[in-house]
Amino acid sequence: MSDRPLLLLDVDGPLNPFGARFVRHRGYVTHRMLPDCRSPLPHASRRRAAREARVRLHPGHGARLLALPYQLTWATAWCRQANELVAPAIGLPGDLPVVEWPSARCGRSADGVHWKTRTLLEWAAGRPFAWVDDELTGRDADHVATHHPGSALLLRIDPRKGLRDRDFGRLEHWARTLG
Ligand SMILES: [Mg+2]
Repeated sequence: MSDRPLLLLDVDGPLNPFGARFVRHRGYVTHRMLPDCRSPLPHASRRRAAREARVRLHPGHGARLLALPYQLTWATAWCRQANELVAPAIGLPGDLPVVEWPSARCGRSADGVHWKTRTLLEWAAGRPFAWVDDELTGRDADHVATHHPGSALLLRIDPRKGLRDRDFGRLEHWARTLG
């Protein structure tokens, strides 16, 4: 399966629609998870800490992702804990590849490129990839178009909605167009 394109998958936004007010009716389940990367501030109120530990995940997303013709890869600040905490909650195997980041993991560089972008291009090493994330902008698209020799799909997900049917459809269609 190594000839499959990569699916570089973010957690907060695509899988955890943290901006949504009501998701239970769409089949999401609320979990309490506090991965290292999301530890609450030491002086945060109890209420805020509880809010930050709230993660909404859809138990059907794993099967839908596995059905796509991609090599799934975690591209998230959750790092290895995506395998430990998120994967079992949505039905993904707990041993998916995980992109390792350099130490600085937030914001954008001076040229407006996301902190993940350059590392992901190194990881892809020219292979075709779809990148699914809620923080993509035109700066990232420009950077990828200029520096990545392979095909790429940058799919921005609305963090109020998470992955939707049309996103799965778009990923499926794009992979098929690679031939
Ligand atoms: Mg995100």
